[in-house]
Amino acid sequence: MASRNTAHVDPLSLVFTPIPPSTSSRAVVKLTLLNCGELISSRVMFRQRQTMAEMAEQETAVVFSWVVEKEIAGEVKRYLWDLGVVSSLDKVPKQIADAVRPRFALNVPAAAQPPFILSHLSPSPAPVETLTGLFLSHAHFDHYGCMTDFPSRLPLYVGPGTKTWVKGGDEAPGGLKGFPSAFWRHPVFVGEIGEEGAKGKGKEWTSVGTYEKAWDWFGDGSFTLLQAPGHCPGHMCALARVSTSPDTYVLLAADTCHSRYIYTPFPHPSHRHAIAHFAPVSEGPAETTPGSATMHGDVAEAYRSIARLTRMEMEENVMCVLAHETEVAQELRVGVGEMKQGWERWKENGWKIEKERGVHPQPKMV
Ligand SMILES: [Zn+2]
Repeated sequence: MASRNTAHVDPLSLVFTPIPPSTSSRAVVKLTLLNCGELISSRVMFRQRQTMAEMAEQETAVVFSWVVEKEIAGEVKRYLWDLGVVSSLDKVPKQIADAVRPRFALNVPAAAQPPFILSHLSPSPAPVETLTGLFLSHAHFDHYGCMTDFPSRLPLYVGPGTKTWVKGGDEAPGGLKGFPSAFWRHPVFVGEIGEEGAKGKGKEWTSVGTYEKAWDWFGDGSFTLLQAPGHCPGHMCALARVSTSPDTYVLLAADTCHSRYIYTPFPHPSHRHAIAHFAPVSEGPAETTPGSATMHGDVAEAYRSIARLTRMEMEENVMCVLAHETEVAQELRVGVGEMKQGWERWKENGWKIEKERGVHPQPKMV
């Protein structure tokens, strides 16, 4: 069987709109990475494997959230980007818990689940009473956490297309696609980026880098929301400018893919893994299939968004971090329930150099 990495889109084939340079040293955000726990999958889901025996191996994926801070006129606005995973499946409706159990075990101590992680870190990067709002990269179980553990006054911002997909928070049948209706009804406001009440300081969708639809939330290029289709409807990434002179960026890459080795090394796709496909039990017997199931709703779109990410990572002043990029937690030594700050110095600290030096296992050809 031919390797599926032939499905990759060449990142150099994409139009690249230069990232607008900063016009002020204040046009930055401060980031804090939160390690909110781990998903332990009962079979391989995050990385490409070729045989049923390999597919049966357990795999662990970290779950990252981010605190995004912005000083405006002497006042600090604090947002969370993604809300982690529930510490107990008792916190989600039975239909969703039943869909999760066969797929994942959770390693989420109560103190690592947002918002509680915020009060267990010292000093707290964002005491919950100081939060301004919540961004959701997409409406999946391992990103929406436990909405009802947050104050209802906090507005929830989601990507365009999410509302139609979530349908007001249907719990069934949808399985993992279900969004608890109690969660959906909880915030005083739920808005899709760009609609009334969810515009920030942005005015219109423009092109930034490889993304055709980018929204400048603070109006100064410091935090740009990016439509990144493929994984599911409404899936978003965000480009955060963390320093000026020189301008450097961290790209919060959400679930564009689920392993570093799917988008790096760059540029040529043949050196990268394909999207991880996994094999439902019904596809046995062993050694016959690399699996037909995938994490992505629209695989062709997902490959295009992966190419977007690869091309952004090729920029020397951009560092991409997936929501489940477990290697980052290992390299930067961010344990479950811990945080990592200092992203404004990622370049001088060599965090991306370490990433590029990392092991790049070659996909096995069958
Ligand atoms: Zn995810």
